[in-house]
Amino acid sequence: MTLLGDALGLVRDERHKQDEKWGPQRHGLPVWLTVLTEECGEVSERILALRSETDPEKRAAIAWQLRQEATQVAAVAVALLEHIMEEASQDEPFPNEVWQ
Ligand SMILES: [Mg+2]
Repeated sequence: MTLLGDALGLVRDERHKQDEKWGPQRHGLPVWLTVLTEECGEVSERILALRSETDPEKRAAIAWQLRQEATQVAAVAVALLEHIMEEASQDEPFPNEVWQ
């Protein structure tokens, strides 16, 4: 297995978890962007925590959390991509109500 294959496997597993937790997600585009930005913020927070932590055990725990948050960023981006692909197949992609 390659690192790419491993990473894509993590993202696929996270997408399945999202679907089990919330079902298919169809949000307006501003909500999608908010969800994605929130996940990016969690990555930033973990990076700052890693930067300031000196205890090796705590650093390992934070690195694990960083991996989880980065996976969630990618999984949300994939969920958004799925929605974009679905909309692109419609006669009128992203009608105005998608912006609500
Ligand atoms: Mg998160």
